[in-house]
Amino acid sequence: MELTDLATIRALCEKYDFALSKGFGQNFIVNPGVPPKIVDAAGIDRRFGVLEIGPGIGVLTREIARRAGKVVAIEVDKRLPPVLAETLAGFDNVKVILQDVLKADLPALMQQEFAGMPVAVCANLPYYITSPIIMKLLEDRLPVQNITVMVQKEAAERLAALPGTRASGAVSCAVRYFAQPKMMFTVQAGSFYPAPKVTSAVVRLDIRPTPAVAVPDEKAYFALVRAAFGQRRKTAANAIAAGLGLPRQQVADALAAAGLDPRVRPEQLTLEHFAALDAALRAAGA
Ligand code: SAM
Repeated sequence: MELTDLATIRALCEKYDFALSKGFGQNFIVNPGVPPKIVDAAGIDRRFGVLEIGPGIGVLTREIARRAGKVVAIEVDKRLPPVLAETLAGFDNVKVILQDVLKADLPALMQQEFAGMPVAVCANLPYYITSPIIMKLLEDRLPVQNITVMVQKEAAERLAALPGTRASGAVSCAVRYFAQPKMMFTVQAGSFYPAPKVTSAVVRLDIRPTPAVAVPDEKAYFALVRAAFGQRRKTAANAIAAGLGLPRQQVADALAAAGLDPRVRPEQLTLEHFAALDAALRAAGA
């Protein structure tokens, strides 16, 4: 059964009385060249345990299962496991879990399913929750080597943007703190059914052994980063003061102590700048 054939997809939809859901971000890959390219980008081989998010009808799952030691696929749509039972029938190294990935205890799952194996995350993500999923994967500090995901091209650019440059945002800082991102390739809208309105891209995040900067309190550091980007049109000083509920002058003084211009914009701040600012605020008792 060729899962990238529209005729196959239609037949499966009919047999299981399934209609693709926009709400769950269901755009399935119909270009047979794409799944092997994604798995190549992830650098997966037989030694690997792979966590897939959102298997859909299993087109990427099958390619991963052919090449990895084990695949665990988390799917939220309860209509899909019966379809997957048919499309993945020939594979004994795949486990499908019916759950919302945002509610899953991923560290426990990894320990249970992938003990002793190198692990990667590989997925064609539901685009409406790209950032929350990436943030969860990073903040959960999963013992994974890399996260290789297909997302909207704009989201991929944001994930890969270097903090301190124009395209950066809070998620770019979080990615860089935990990982080394790399843009791999773009995928045209026609490679999906139904075709989304936007171009997609695959990005790979290689998890660092230790974070890019050392900070005393990670939670406080990311609260500062999020506050700075909370109101994009404002200067970092105004946004941080508003976001953290601090007097404007105290933030301005901390910026000065960290050697930064009081009118600096959040996207001009690097991870080291944020660390210096965090230290200055801490020293001032904020
Ligand atoms: N992997 C398939 C492919 O590439 O053709 C489907 C990808 S589709 C873009 C996204 C998948 O994620 C859908 O199967 C959707 O039901 C699933 N999904 C959406 N929200 C989810 C969530 N919160 N947790 C787990 N899966 C989710």
